Amino acid sequence: MDKNNRNIRRIAIIGGGSAGWMTAAALAKNLTGACQIELIESDDIGIVGVGEATIPPLKSFNASLGIDEHDFLKHTQGTYKLGIQFVNWGKKDHRYFHPFGQYGADFDKVPLHHYWLRARSMGDTTPLDEYSMAWVAASHGRFSRPTRDPQQVQSTYDYAYHFDAGLYAKYLRKYSEVRGVTRSEGRVVDVKLDAESGFIKHVVMEDGLKIAADLFIDCSGFRALLIERALETGFEDWSHWLPVNSAQVVACERTGELVPHTRSTARDAGWQWRIPLQHRTGNGHVYCSDYISDDEAAATLMANLDGKPLADPRLLRFTTGRRKQFWNRNCIAIGLSGGFMEPLESTALHLIQSGITRFLALFPDRDFDPLVIEEFNRLTVQEFERIRDFIILHYCITERKDTELWRYVANMSIPDTLQYKIDHFRRYGRLVSKGFELFQNPNWLAVHVGQGNWPQRYDPLVDERTEVDAERRLAGLHRVIKEAVNTMPTHDKYIRRNCRSPG
Ligand SMILES: Cc1cc2nc3c(=O)[nH]c(=O)nc-3n(C[C@H](O)[C@H](O)[C@H](O)COP(=O)(O)OP(=O)(O)OC[C@H]3O[C@@H](n4cnc5c(N)ncnc54)[C@H](O)[C@@H]3O)c2cc1C
Repeated sequence: MDKNNRNIRRIAIIGGGSAGWMTAAALAKNLTGACQIELIESDDIGIVGVGEATIPPLKSFNASLGIDEHDFLKHTQGTYKLGIQFVNWGKKDHRYFHPFGQYGADFDKVPLHHYWLRARSMGDTTPLDEYSMAWVAASHGRFSRPTRDPQQVQSTYDYAYHFDAGLYAKYLRKYSEVRGVTRSEGRVVDVKLDAESGFIKHVVMEDGLKIAADLFIDCSGFRALLIERALETGFEDWSHWLPVNSAQVVACERTGELVPHTRSTARDAGWQWRIPLQHRTGNGHVYCSDYISDDEAAATLMANLDGKPLADPRLLRFTTGRRKQFWNRNCIAIGLSGGFMEPLESTALHLIQSGITRFLALFPDRDFDPLVIEEFNRLTVQEFERIRDFIILHYCITERKDTELWRYVANMSIPDTLQYKIDHFRRYGRLVSKGFELFQNPNWLAVHVGQGNWPQRYDPLVDERTEVDAERRLAGLHRVIKEAVNTMPTHDKYIRRNCRSPG
């Protein structure tokens, strides 16, 4: 062995929830050399066990591991997700859909939605949702995978999954163990730091066993055992922008056909999710405890299930925000240990995935060059902040003023970065961005329009584009979307044919 070789030889992952096993699986796939990977988890402590709705990039994470989609859905009681239906968000008795994919297809250099805004100003009442293939399919309970041919309207939508988070962790555990990851069962009771460098030397298990490594990945969930309890990295609290801090969660029996979308229903002090899985329906009421008691929140949840509950509701607490550094010394926080922004747009599993991708792109050696660490933190902060702004948008542009929570969020001050985007949309209906964003123009458009944040006018260029027959184009898109959806199987049928779970 070369004495000067400074490569990482041993990685310890603390925690075996989705974060721990997604990290283990990706490392096992990508580090096939001399690096030993060990994962420590405690069955006694368990996992948070929620995290059942995802966004489209998870497909590429699974694909990068070589996982077959149908096999994965079969083993996780999974279903397909074409977007989120928001109920009572902009105002009461109102619904809109945040679809995956675009609205129709642009037919000019001016984006389609400006032509739609003009048509609307002239009395056309066709909702924007009707130009979304994802919505039209979801509202008819239909699903098939999109095509890749950009000439076809079937290429204009995208999809993600709903699945049982516990089964996903198990699935990835099997994948990782086959590829050489070792697992230690037990509770970490102490973390020892090097007196000089402050780096983590080893963790100490309940039975006294010391587990040393060059690099530690903190996947210990909200406990943040290494990154916070041991390294005292600090936390940036975002509760003033994202005030929800609790959730009551419960599964209920599945009733009826499987719909291919998540539903989020605004409640007086928060909102409630409904996630359809093959064997059950996941439900949770996310709320701010300043405005409702835990008992009342649980009662609201239980009164709004569409099947028989399978257990008593379970209470989870959290603080929205992020770790001041995601990578500190020889420790990287992946998953809830790094921060949490509430589950409204199902972004937490994505942040695990992108954290892993960034880590592999900036894979360190035992020198832990501060330049590498700085870049990892810079990119991660940027991603967290862009997602944070998108989630805040759902709250701050509400027209609801009927309860304390909705009055608070409608009047709170918001980040300048978000105000800038809102201002642009309000003036000319334009969607601007200062750099790469996970949520792209159609996502922002869905929420602006869905919540009634109307622009003062559409893009003035539209009126100059006299050669564009927008009326005919819009009508044509509307028609071909409906025709294409009519040829799709129902979501239920697609699952029965391709990825039905046992039982
Ligand atoms: C209410 C709610 C709803 C959510 N909904 C979604 C959603 O729809 N979509 C989405 O993408 N994300 C969602 N999330 C987030 C998602 O659940 C998490 O990102 C994901 O489950 C990863 O969690 P984790 O692995 O970081 O933590 P956990 O699942 O909590 O795992 C922590 C691990 O650390 C171990 N551990 C802790 N302490 C010790 C110790 N002392 N010794 C040994 N082991 C220890 C535990 O045993 C466990 O294995 C939601 C979160 C909440 C709170």
